[in-house]
Amino acid sequence: MKDLRDKVVLITGAASGIGRATAVEFALEGAGPLILNDIDEQGLRETASTIRSLGREAIVLTADVSDYGAVAEMIATALDRTGRIDVLVNVAGIGIVGPVEVLEMEDWRKVMGVDLFGVLHTVSLVYPHMLERGSGHIVNVSSGAGLMVPTPYNAPYNTSKFAVVGLSESLLYEARAHGVGVTCVCPGLVRTPIYETSRLKGLSDDMKHELDRLMVTAEEPGDTARALVNAVKKDRFLVVTTFFWKCLYFTRRHFSFLWFPAMRFFSRVLMRRLERFRIAG
Ligand code: NAD
Repeated sequence: MKDLRDKVVLITGAASGIGRATAVEFALEGAGPLILNDIDEQGLRETASTIRSLGREAIVLTADVSDYGAVAEMIATALDRTGRIDVLVNVAGIGIVGPVEVLEMEDWRKVMGVDLFGVLHTVSLVYPHMLERGSGHIVNVSSGAGLMVPTPYNAPYNTSKFAVVGLSESLLYEARAHGVGVTCVCPGLVRTPIYETSRLKGLSDDMKHELDRLMVTAEEPGDTARALVNAVKKDRFLVVTTFFWKCLYFTRRHFSFLWFPAMRFFSRVLMRRLERFRIAG
């Protein structure tokens, strides 16, 4: 899909961070109408007004992506208003951070509900329409943590993000044969509110500051969004962003005999360091 002018794009998680930046990037490419989804109405209104100031049409559809019924209603409304969806971009995501033994089933369900089923819901409802038309592109935003796990206490998030990579690759084989493109974006660290909004369980809030050190490797949401849009134009499947995470992924792929011993050492050091943030309860 080299030319994105007048393409109808549906973006979930468009009220903030990477989702908002993605909407802006598509608008700059001349895409539209842009269908903006999120649960955050205020944030959606702000994104929509930015898109309109760029001279593109924005349609705001609030829905919780973890709720299949709500997503079905949203897709029906979107198709009613625009007649088609050319590009589907799944960005919505959340995190609940804590040691595995502290996390409850409800925490797992919540994260998997948004980060995995949120993607599955839109894909299962939009993909058949793309098949019918023999064209379209689906982008799923996973994470660098969907390819490798360099930090502890993020098991539900990592699990869902690995699953999104698996889902995207499974879809790739089937969809390409029918003229539908698939991209899976695995960003490294990106400066967005997700680190503030992610819930901590069994860990004190001070742990969030520990991450500040790693944020020197982070990119801006606009950088991630540009990589995402370029991948759609070039029909690329896997996109890993930030120099740091590209290096980690390269090492994991080509030097796995070094990766696991190094991780064993690193995790011992890191776990000792993070121990002071554990809270009883
Ligand atoms: P963000 O918090 O800025 O944006 C996430 C958006 O998803 C928010 O607007 C939020 O309201 C929305 N959302 C949450 N639950 C929802 C639901 N049930 N239904 C609809 N919308 C919902 O965070 P971000 O960093 O821009 O994250 C976007 C995506 O990128 C996520 O999937 C995240 O896992 C992924 N990611 C982020 C980073 C990073 O470092 N920020 C790195 C790798 C991957």
